[in-house]
Amino acid sequence: MYYPLQSSRPQRRTTVQQRARYSLYKPELREDFVSKCGYCDTPDYYSGGKRGFHIDHFAPKSKFEQLKNEYTNLVYCCPICNIGKSDDWPGDNPSMSFMGDIGYIDPCSENYADHLARSPDGTIVALTPLGGYIHKRLKLSLRRRQICWLMERMEEQMTQLARLAKDKQSELGSEEVQTLCELTLEYFKYAGFLKRE
Ligand SMILES: [Zn+2]
Repeated sequence: MYYPLQSSRPQRRTTVQQRARYSLYKPELREDFVSKCGYCDTPDYYSGGKRGFHIDHFAPKSKFEQLKNEYTNLVYCCPICNIGKSDDWPGDNPSMSFMGDIGYIDPCSENYADHLARSPDGTIVALTPLGGYIHKRLKLSLRRRQICWLMERMEEQMTQLARLAKDKQSELGSEEVQTLCELTLEYFKYAGFLKRE
């Protein structure tokens, strides 16, 4: 049983004020991608927020200069995905993003979820050979992708338990206290991993 890789599918707005440089679209892109990497779904606050995140040209600007400032061609993404994808593209046609099992799927397309998913332990898995190609190029097996996802879920649980504990009306049972302690230790172990990396 897999979870969708993207907690919600990003959608680019249909109308956007024309800008002279693609970098000026970052605020709109960030909103449309809900502050997460389009490809691996990692929130931008693990990479220094908006400033640390990149703008990827889905069809690379080095090959398709005409799409350099085209909003529909832009993807808000983490530095690792952007560097992994680089100017890789399967052919000479900007509208053909894959040929057979080689190439990419626009993360705003509903087909993206057919190729990549999230396993219950947080690792990202390929569902198809094309998904496997994307997985390899974007280094989706890196442990930090798994850890960021796990930490987000742990935060929800910890907040819930801590709220209960704060509420004097309801005392936490010893099992809940145990869970909260384990979550706290595990959480900071992961935070340490991200800090060291
Ligand atoms: Zn990413």
